[in-house]
Amino acid sequence: MTTPQIQTTVPTRYWHALPDGRIQCDLCPRECKLHEGQQGLCFVRARQHDRVVLTSYGRSSGFCVDPIEKKPLNHFLPGSPVLSFGTAGCNLACKFCQNWDMSKSREMDTLMDQASPEALARTAERLGCRSVAYTYNDPVIFLEYAVDTAIACRERGIRSVAVTAGYISPGAREDFFAHMDAANVDLKAFTEDFYWKTCGAHLDKVLETLRYIRHETEVWLELTTLLIPGHNDSDAELDRMTRWVVENLGPDVPMHFTAFHPDWKMTDVPRTPASTLTRAREIARRNGVHHAYTGNVRDELGASTYCHGCGERLIGRDGYRITHWQLTAEGHCPRCDTKLPGVFEAQPGDWGERRMPVRMAQLKWEV
Ligand code: SF4
Repeated sequence: MTTPQIQTTVPTRYWHALPDGRIQCDLCPRECKLHEGQQGLCFVRARQHDRVVLTSYGRSSGFCVDPIEKKPLNHFLPGSPVLSFGTAGCNLACKFCQNWDMSKSREMDTLMDQASPEALARTAERLGCRSVAYTYNDPVIFLEYAVDTAIACRERGIRSVAVTAGYISPGAREDFFAHMDAANVDLKAFTEDFYWKTCGAHLDKVLETLRYIRHETEVWLELTTLLIPGHNDSDAELDRMTRWVVENLGPDVPMHFTAFHPDWKMTDVPRTPASTLTRAREIARRNGVHHAYTGNVRDELGASTYCHGCGERLIGRDGYRITHWQLTAEGHCPRCDTKLPGVFEAQPGDWGERRMPVRMAQLKWEV
């Protein structure tokens, strides 16, 4: 591929000058206040020449074609391949981070590959991907790159998927989600104590983003909660969380309960037992969530999609592989005609469980 030189440091719009001479980044609720030359907590936004710039535009920690179910999204073009990429840094500081090699990276060496938005869109199209996912680390912090890529993708009929913690300020989130077609947002727990002590963030800001996506955009939304034994997996917390989801977002937002493995600064906590995921799924269903899933474990029952009208199994899954498809061409249950919420086509994709790394620099086509 011919890759034109990419300008990797670009100006940003979300900041303002403070009376004391510092500049405040307004992209996320952290509101980093920067002296000249300082980086924000996310590491990729910095003050240079009296403005806030993004320093990782066009640079990536790697590209990979994944099944869309891995994001996880179970109601958005099931079975289709998605070109996934991330950069470096993060605006949260989760002690249990499962992608810490990228999100906690302070080294630009992590960003081995690069691609312009147009090259990414062209690559997704050539590889038969239906969407591009901004994932691995939080795309909020590379908003300018994600938005330009989403624009280039839309011109080619490729959709955009954000995998995010939803920690973004109101002005920026309008810009960001206007260009997305689907989002999987981490709802990491349902207590301010967990959010602040374990992630360095505030729960209410995430809940604001969830309400915004659900009620003020057309973005298809699913939620993921990584259940960490003894930290966010009590019956009482799951009960409060799932009631809030139904009351504030409605029963049709799918929830994924996924298994934690010991990582980063939480290596003293055991893996999540499968029974915890099943328990969370049951609590969610009992509180009215129509579609609740288990994840990061092999569980056909918990990975499959059922009609909320009559209970018919509509989409069977074994891991990320679709084993059964019983939706009408219009996305309805064939037995009771209830519409399955989400974005579906007449037939599922057949990407299966494959994970295909892509080195952009080695691709042969012109952009
Ligand atoms: S985006 Fe980065 S620099 Fe801006 S407020 Fe958030 S953590 Fe700070």
